[in-house]
Formats: sequence, structure tokens, C-alpha cells
Amino acid sequence: MEQNCIFCKIARHEIPSQIVFEDEDVVAFKDVKPVAPVHIVIIPKEHISGVMAITEENGDILTKIFLAAKRLAQETGIDKTGFRVVVNHGREAGQSVFHLHFHLLGGRPLSWPPG
Ligand code: 5GP
Ligand code: ZN
Repeated sequence: MEQNCIFCKIARHEIPSQIVFEDEDVVAFKDVKPVAPVHIVIIPKEHISGVMAITEENGDILTKIFLAAKRLAQETGIDKTGFRVVVNHGREAGQSVFHLHFHLLGGRPLSWPPG
């Protein structure tokens, strides 16, 4: 738990969010400012500040995050139409919350390359 980390607080149910999946290691919740019809944020409950803080010990949690993404894609139907799993890191990618998180995006055509 990192003091003042909004996603640690969501993981601990200290601030409300629309949780769509949760197990002992992972939480997934609807993004408060969705940029697509399906926009779910998937996080490890453990505080990891971003991609550059990942270690080999985080391997199991990363697998669990992708299994959650797969399950949520199936539940929302975007496994049929297509989707994107995105991690923003640092200033030029627009990272705004410094707790590792994966955006699951779908439900409309997604442009490539991203803007
Ligand atoms: P980033 O810009 O760091 O890749 O993504 C952070 C995401 O978290 C943004 O899409 C933002 O809308 C979302 N977000 C930030 N604070 C909250 C919150 O308190 N609740 C929820 N549900 N989403 C949040
Ligand atoms: Zn955190």
C-alpha cells in the first residue's frame, strides 16, 4: 500500500469504483473517464509503480492480469470485435496514475497508430 495512491485505495475498497472483476491479486474496474464503450482498468493489488518497476517476481501477477483481460473481453463481447490492452508509461505516453495498470479498450474501431 502506497500512501495517497488512488489505485491502492480502489484495490482496498477505500474509495468507490465500479469493480467488474476481483480476486486475491487483481482488481478490474470501469474507468471513470471512458474513452471507448468498453474501458476497464486492470491492476495488481500490490503497488507496482509502472512498467519500469516490474521484476521477474511479478510474472504470476502479469499472467493473472492477462487472464482477467481475456475473461472480461469475453464477458463484454469485445473478444469477437477486437480490443486493445494498453499500458501508458511516463510523460509522453500520458501516464497519470503511478500504479501499474492495463487499459482494456474496445467496442468501437480503434485507430492505429495511436495519436
Ligand atoms: P493513465 O493515464 O495513467 O494511463 O490512466 C489512468 C486512468 O485511470 C485514466 O484513464 C483515468 O480516467 C482513470 N482514473 C483515474 N482516477 C480514477 C478513479 O478514481 N476511478 C476510476 N474508476 N478511474 C480513475
Ligand atoms: Zn498503488
